[in-house]
Amino acid sequence: MEDALLQIRDLHTTFYTRDGLVRAVDGVSIEIAAGESVGIVGESGCGKSMTAMSLMGLLKKPGKVDGGTILFNGQDLTAMGPKERRKLMGNRISMIFQEPMTSLNPVTTVGRQVREALLLHNKEMSRTQARDRVIQVFQLVGIPDAAKRYHEYPHQLSGGLRQRVMIAMAMVCDPGLLIADEPTTALDVTIEAQILHLMKQLQEEKGTAVMMITHNLGVVAQFCTRLYVMYAGKVMESGTVREIFKNVCHPYTEGLMRSVPDMESKERLYNIRGMVPSMLHLPKGCRFCPRCQYSMAKCFEQEPGLYEPSPGHLVRCFLFEPEKGEESHEQK
Ligand code: SF4
Repeated sequence: MEDALLQIRDLHTTFYTRDGLVRAVDGVSIEIAAGESVGIVGESGCGKSMTAMSLMGLLKKPGKVDGGTILFNGQDLTAMGPKERRKLMGNRISMIFQEPMTSLNPVTTVGRQVREALLLHNKEMSRTQARDRVIQVFQLVGIPDAAKRYHEYPHQLSGGLRQRVMIAMAMVCDPGLLIADEPTTALDVTIEAQILHLMKQLQEEKGTAVMMITHNLGVVAQFCTRLYVMYAGKVMESGTVREIFKNVCHPYTEGLMRSVPDMESKERLYNIRGMVPSMLHLPKGCRFCPRCQYSMAKCFEQEPGLYEPSPGHLVRCFLFEPEKGEESHEQK
């Protein structure tokens, strides 16, 4: 992608535990253009959040990025020192976390928390200017009585308002890239719809690129234009949302799609058999083979490459292996 704002190339994140190496992110490549909204989908434990944490530089020991590059606006984040990287985080790259109650400081008013985030990256701004800007952003994200709410503590706000505060905190410095890690998981469906609508509006108005991490393909269909499906630390399928929804290829993506509830259908809701494997004991061959209804003998022996059944649509599955003599996407 020529106009990529973010280019993650062959990223490897490993946890060095007493029980062995956990390769939480195992050769992941993701690209996001400026202003684009991209979904990262998969069940819990597939490496979605670890990819985001590696990008944000928020990994804690024994986790470590030990391979690959993360280019943001052409600058390699993995080669930056902690000080230089901190300047970029929260300013040019922001993140909305899953649970606003645990991400906000319970003993500081929400206005002050957002103001501090703003002042950290805008040293020349006065406190009064920062307060006015925060109230303005509170209004922008639909917090009613913004000036009054500014002085309230997180426990005085509803879950939906707390998540709006988190969005305000992420947007206050006008970032180029917003990472939203399951931003609506803790909310009920009505508030979820409002928050997604708000994020879409902000993204369109400000031209912010969004990486939407979710297990919910419904959210991706509403919000994103491209999609990466992750399983056991690897990208299994990627392409435009339109193409993947029209022509789903990977058996895992197919299972995720069939697991989306359909209110019209009288059939029992599908669930993918089995569980995500322990990253300490990955199966030999294709990581999805113990759960795959199409598995063949070869799947239990060899890892599939990344194949391209149609332009821009990549699939890690032997069912889409090109004829002998043709190259896989990784060989090109
Ligand atoms: Fe299923 Fe084999 Fe494809 Fe893996 S490579 S997803 S086991 S068919």
